[in-house]
Amino acid sequence: MDNKYDLIMIRFGELSTKGKNKKEFISLLFDNLRNALKEYPSIYLERRYDHLYIHLGEAPLSEVVDIVKEIPGIHSISLVKRVDSDIDEIKESALSLIKGEKGSTFKVNCKRANKDFPIHSEEVIRSVAAVILKNTELKVDVHNPDILLSIEIRDEGTYIFFKTIPCLGGYPLGAGGKALMMLSGGIDSPVAAYLLMRKGVRVECVHFASPPYTSEGVLIKLEDILSQLSHYQSEIRLHIVPFTKIQECIYKNIPEPYCITEMRRCMYKISEKIARKRNCLVIASGESIGQVASQTLASMRTINEVTSYPIIRPVAVMDKEEIIKLAVRLGTYDISIRPYEDCCTIFAPKNPKTAPKLDEIKKYEEKLPLDELIDEAVQNTEVRVIK
Ligand code: ATP
Ligand code: MG
Repeated sequence: MDNKYDLIMIRFGELSTKGKNKKEFISLLFDNLRNALKEYPSIYLERRYDHLYIHLGEAPLSEVVDIVKEIPGIHSISLVKRVDSDIDEIKESALSLIKGEKGSTFKVNCKRANKDFPIHSEEVIRSVAAVILKNTELKVDVHNPDILLSIEIRDEGTYIFFKTIPCLGGYPLGAGGKALMMLSGGIDSPVAAYLLMRKGVRVECVHFASPPYTSEGVLIKLEDILSQLSHYQSEIRLHIVPFTKIQECIYKNIPEPYCITEMRRCMYKISEKIARKRNCLVIASGESIGQVASQTLASMRTINEVTSYPIIRPVAVMDKEEIIKLAVRLGTYDISIRPYEDCCTIFAPKNPKTAPKLDEIKKYEEKLPLDELIDEAVQNTEVRVIK
């Protein structure tokens, strides 16, 4: 990649199907892009009906490409050269650009979005190919060319480019409302948070901490995980819920095989209260079907019964290996596997119920002051904002 391309064309992909929301989505994407690239003062963003363009100025191309590739809502990008929509100029630029490409065969594609341009696309293809054939050693191969030269004729000018780089896809952050993500220190929940962000959903996180059984180290770990995710969402609010009293109450009074079930019921009750307060439209967790006793479908149902709030489990159907692969890519894996104590692991029963019964758990919790403890925990929740 070199700087003879001073322009990056950004395609929205999925966005195009969104009809009347499109304008709003493009505005969001525009703002998110500007924010992500704010450290490059020479960059100028140009907004057109179907695309956004980044004018690089002095900014280093490969750095900018790496950033742009990770922004939700961008489907693909191309490094393009914009020239006047004039056939001689198109031919001349196409020829000069293709001389810098590696390969021995080529094919020309042309899209004429500007129907006022007087020459049909087949004719453009023919005359550009003729110039290349005459002035280089390259041969035409329409089926499997080494070099694909694309020409797009638009209102503001004509774009010439070779490669299309696939990007993250999804929707621009903020387009999908806000979720409250239950964030442990494990591998799964950060991946779940990322999957939501990619779909345009902003997240706030809630963590249940049980000092002194769990250490401050967990919180450092969470901050490191969140600063890794801040590539996708620049500011993340973390609600730290003091969970010790609730856990002690559960473990003193409820038979061991039912402890995890009750603990998780309490987590969801608390999450619902925070979600309502913070205008989060859903609660999300990193639960994955069958991974552990509390994540069988039967378990999830008994746990979920405490709330009618919508719950999303983005990694529910993924295998651990797939989740790990994503975690590695996000840079959260190495942080997640640092040794630490989660409230779940500290109090993990030897024989947790894989199919906890609802009437059973209700019978146990009836006698306990859990609702008061829950209110108290919500009141004493600490908030940190990770940037
Ligand atoms: P993870 O890898 O995300 O920790 P896990 O496989 O270890 O998940 P569990 O410990 O059973 O599974 O937790 C399942 C989900 O419950 C987590 O993904 C997370 O969403 C939520 N959760 C568990 N512990 C906590 C906690 N201390 N604070 C907030 N959420 C939690
Ligand atoms: Mg865990």
